[in-house]
Amino acid sequence: SAVPVAQIGVTGLAVMGANLARNLARKGFTVAVHNRSPQRARQLLADHGHEGAFVPAEALTDFVASLQRPRAIIVMVQAGAATDAVIDQLTPLLDADDIIIDCGNAHYADTRRREETLRGLGLRFVGCGVSGGEEGALTGPSIMPGGAAEAYATLGPILEKIAARVDGQPCVAHVGSDGAGHFVKMVHNGIEYADMQLIAEAYDLLREGLWASPKQIAQIFRQWNTGELNSFLVEIAADVLEHTDAATGRPFVDIVADIAAQKGTGRWTVQSALDLNVPITGIAEATFARALSGSVDQRRAAADAFAHAGGGHALTVSDADLFVEDVRRALYASKVVAYAQGFDQIDAGSQRYGWKIDRGQVARLWRGGCIIRARFLDHIAAAYTADPQLPTLLVDPYFATAVADGAPSWRRVVSEAVWAGVPTPAFSSSLAYFDGLRRDRLPAALIQGLRDHFGAHTYRRVDRPGSFHTRWSGDR
Ligand code: NAP
Repeated sequence: SAVPVAQIGVTGLAVMGANLARNLARKGFTVAVHNRSPQRARQLLADHGHEGAFVPAEALTDFVASLQRPRAIIVMVQAGAATDAVIDQLTPLLDADDIIIDCGNAHYADTRRREETLRGLGLRFVGCGVSGGEEGALTGPSIMPGGAAEAYATLGPILEKIAARVDGQPCVAHVGSDGAGHFVKMVHNGIEYADMQLIAEAYDLLREGLWASPKQIAQIFRQWNTGELNSFLVEIAADVLEHTDAATGRPFVDIVADIAAQKGTGRWTVQSALDLNVPITGIAEATFARALSGSVDQRRAAADAFAHAGGGHALTVSDADLFVEDVRRALYASKVVAYAQGFDQIDAGSQRYGWKIDRGQVARLWRGGCIIRARFLDHIAAAYTADPQLPTLLVDPYFATAVADGAPSWRRVVSEAVWAGVPTPAFSSSLAYFDGLRRDRLPAALIQGLRDHFGAHTYRRVDRPGSFHTRWSGDR
């Protein structure tokens, strides 16, 4: 059987696994590679074998035998049943202290279950979020490993070599035990949904308000990308808006069907937030906005029914430059809210599951490699490092100033959009969240009164401690 020469293995060589294996090989590691259908391993060797030391195997037993101990095996297959199937095939072939690293997009609850099972077998299991798409996997992703800290002691030095780097620091760190890594990856994806929806709303407003062409809006985005909004998503939004469809000569964005697909991580984030009772309204609105875009029958029916109802007047823009600046500020303020909410969810998950997640560290490992990489993550890292107990990102001095300074623009943009009938669910709900948080008294007091009236659910008082119930009528 094979000589154990490989330092790490990758099974699952579709685009993500193949690129991770190449990244490892290019960094000097000897990489065992395996795929259920052997053709993919052959193809990888044929196309990229010259890039480094690959040890291909067609049988899983040979793959395992080719690895030095303790073995470290990255599993990069479809999330769900496929991941369980691969783990079940691997475990009988492994020895104590070997490490399975699931780099797929697993649900954190599955990761917690798998980690517990494998720990019981004397093995180590690391659920590991990886972001950056296929390009990131090859050139340096953001990596979010969970699992036991001892496993990270073995694995960390390898992951630190292949991760993205910002200011000389690798975008990888041990996030917390069992499912912490996949939880943080899930929230990352949720924030990604919110970010994209906010950018899309800004585009829509500029198009409706200025009658600007996609190419002109691309120029505005490029300008924004030189400032506090600097981010990968704003950069590629400009690329997409600049692109011309080769077949028709029309702006690319105008020939794409306006139905936003989703693979489910946004939905998972919202479901988890409901369980944890954390108001992540930006992510939720973004997820529902995709659902609305896909409600084809309802959209057609409503478009017919309200064809002549009008959406109010056209967007009123008296000064184009001012309007662009208002939209920019509204976008930034809404983005700060979406991230504040996402980090609140990370904190709530951390407390629920005992993960002790360092939010400053999470912000640092999102600065490079991942889809939401952005300049302002430096400020988020600084905020949570300065005060690990920060109740909300919005009250950190830097962000408090940014949001307060942006609020007048935010209000103008949202109210103009409402009058013009331009839907801005993420801008609007983020503003409502901001106003809700800062409100001295909320109408929740009336909700409590109603609950006590119909259900004797009791209420607390502002003027003395205790739990109270009012007898609303004698005969109920
Ligand atoms: P994928 O299409 O999600 O999965 C295909 C791979 O899974 C193939 O290697 C396939 O093997 C293997 N597979 C499926 N069922 C299997 C089974 N029952 N037993 C053994 N192997 C099985 O590939 P991907 O796009 O490269 O993604 C891999 C993972 O990374 C997924 O969990 C994905 O969610 C995650 N991810 C993807 C991205 C991205 O940008 N694409 C980013 C981050 C994370 P065969 O070749 O034999 O069919």
